[in-house]
Amino acid sequence: MSRILVINAGSSSIKYQLIDPGTGERDASGLVERIGESAGRLLHRAAGAEEAVTVTARDHSAAFAAMVEAFARHGTPIAELGIVAVGHRVVQGGSEFVRPTLIDDAVAERILRLGELAPLHNPPQYDAIVAARALFPDVPHVAVFDTAFHQTMPERAYTYAIDPAVAAEHGVRRYGFHGISHQVVSRRAAEFLGRPITDLRQVVLHLGNGASACAIDGGRSVDTSMGLTPLEGLVMGTRSGDIDPGALLHLLRAGYDADGLDRLLNGRSGLLGLAGSGDFRDVRDAAAAGDPAAELAIGVAVHRLRRYLGAYLLVLGGADAIVFTAGVGENNAQLRAEVCAGLEWFGIRVDPERNASEERGARRIGADGSRVEVLVIPTDEEAEIARQVHELLG
Ligand code: ADP
Repeated sequence: MSRILVINAGSSSIKYQLIDPGTGERDASGLVERIGESAGRLLHRAAGAEEAVTVTARDHSAAFAAMVEAFARHGTPIAELGIVAVGHRVVQGGSEFVRPTLIDDAVAERILRLGELAPLHNPPQYDAIVAARALFPDVPHVAVFDTAFHQTMPERAYTYAIDPAVAAEHGVRRYGFHGISHQVVSRRAAEFLGRPITDLRQVVLHLGNGASACAIDGGRSVDTSMGLTPLEGLVMGTRSGDIDPGALLHLLRAGYDADGLDRLLNGRSGLLGLAGSGDFRDVRDAAAAGDPAAELAIGVAVHRLRRYLGAYLLVLGGADAIVFTAGVGENNAQLRAEVCAGLEWFGIRVDPERNASEERGARRIGADGSRVEVLVIPTDEEAEIARQVHELLG
């Protein structure tokens, strides 16, 4: 019995899953929240049981200790679970990490240094790596990067048109994110269609709290909507997505500083900024009840999505499949219909009944005869991390 422990750490939380890399099945999963606060919370699911308890986790080490205790309370101590490797999700791999990488001290230090480009993500992920390596010193630890999948983008797609010396000095280029999701979803789309991924041009729309579009040619990312940071591109729950950089200059001159702009654009924009809630369901309900701000928010989000879809159809020279995934993409039929409305000329036709079906799992929502396949493929980033770890370690 061999299992991979997959860790997804944030600044104040650690999510974990114990996965059989062969089948993708979960034996256990959980979450420690509010790390650093006096009253945190642990949620642990294993063997059909679920537990939610209050824990005090000073730091990521303490959070892992709480996780170990939860495993011990629920039958099998963690040492007897057959953990053969730990997979760590890392958001920013810069230009240097193009594939899953075995973590040693030097790799861990490089991940920490890349925190310059991802100050909210890499430093806590580094802390989790240090704590997990201390707890499981005898198994390999592997970093799987959200940016790595996009390292296949051509230079013309990842270069911003600014002074190259400035760009190089500060690492300013498009990196792209959600790569683990775009990779697993595009592969599963090819499996679902029973066609080699190398034959397919796909536009994948990952629409969750964070959202990004990706143009994938033969299984390789050739363009994506997120850029230097996960702020660029689509309208998201609380993030603005694209905005004229001149607007930032304008606001700076009007008295905002960098932190104020950060809070505005990352935390108080997108659906939340326009409609008062960052949760798509709330905004959809408000729009249905006639709230004009909610209607506008959805209108802006859909318009932005169609812009990217149109752009990527041209980047790819046509598409074989359009794939919806993540919370909104998997669950909101109306949004999918809006994104694909009136695109018959492009060979894109959604079947209303298939689209509205309550079915879950990978499914086709395109109409019979739609030249472009339209699919819903659930994302599974943790299973993909486990798969990549397993593949790297043989
Ligand atoms: P994250 O980026 O945090 O992983 P998710 O992929 O879980 O986010 O997506 C969260 C979003 O999905 C929220 O905006 C939520 O409203 C939306 N969502 C979840 N379920 C539904 C549903 N049944 N209908 C519409 N939207 C949904």
